[in-house]
Amino acid sequence: MSITRVSVIGASGRMGSEVCRAVDAADDLELVGCFDVDDDLGDLGGADVVVEFSVPDASATNVAHCLDQGVHVVVGTTGWSESKLAELGTRLEQHPEVGVLIAPNFAIGAVLMMAFAQKAAEFYESVEIIELHHPDKVDAPSGTAARTAELIGAARDRAGLAAVQDATTSDPDGARGARAHGIPVHSVRLRGLVAHQEVLFGQTGEMLTIRHDSFDRVSFMPGVLAAVRKVGDHPGLTVGLEHYLGIA
Ligand code: NAD
Repeated sequence: MSITRVSVIGASGRMGSEVCRAVDAADDLELVGCFDVDDDLGDLGGADVVVEFSVPDASATNVAHCLDQGVHVVVGTTGWSESKLAELGTRLEQHPEVGVLIAPNFAIGAVLMMAFAQKAAEFYESVEIIELHHPDKVDAPSGTAARTAELIGAARDRAGLAAVQDATTSDPDGARGARAHGIPVHSVRLRGLVAHQEVLFGQTGEMLTIRHDSFDRVSFMPGVLAAVRKVGDHPGLTVGLEHYLGIA
């Protein structure tokens, strides 16, 4: 059995420490480096793959360092704007052998929730997203909500549906919450929550709710480990774990 050497950036954080435990427990993976904010990333501990769960402001710099070292990267940090993604794509052209996966949610159920929402989007005029997280989450709307909205928007475009009319008319100033890709997103921050999302589809006389709940950060680990094992087979930039799981 070949062993993949893995380092973690953001290793002291909630997600990073969970990833360290999961990598340590896997027979085919070896944890070779744990890095956090004040550490010199250097040669990344000789890793084959880095897992990056830090903060939105630092993630792009950390990923760039991994590329310069020729190391594949699995990124869970959210807050990747279109411009940051474009910059990363340009940088990757100089490292065509390196794979980078950026996934806003590594829970398999959340990936399915997004896929189901994308499918349902073709059939409903009206849609809104409610995302619910722990109070220490720094960004809102969540990366998962932004990605779900992007997928729904693309599905609506393909189906020839107009912009979300109900929300536009009842909330012309966006006072009821933010919008991502034209879809209204409501963000709840509450003690006791981990990571939850509902996508509500409505039309006259009926409503469909698609909901996913992560009750514990261990829910993200099967997806993270699957990504670590597959990222080397996918050179270039991939956004969304669904592309590795055959769900896209
Ligand atoms: P956290 O605050 O618990 O951990 C972040 C860690 O990053 C901290 O230990 C911090 O010291 C460290 N850090 C800060 N600056 C750094 C730098 N320059 N270099 C290296 N490390 C640095 O946060 P968290 O709950 O673990 O979440 C981390 C990120 O992952 C957030 O963006 C969050 O939204 C995202 N997240 C993604 C998923 C997913 O499935 N993709 C799931 C949960 C959280």
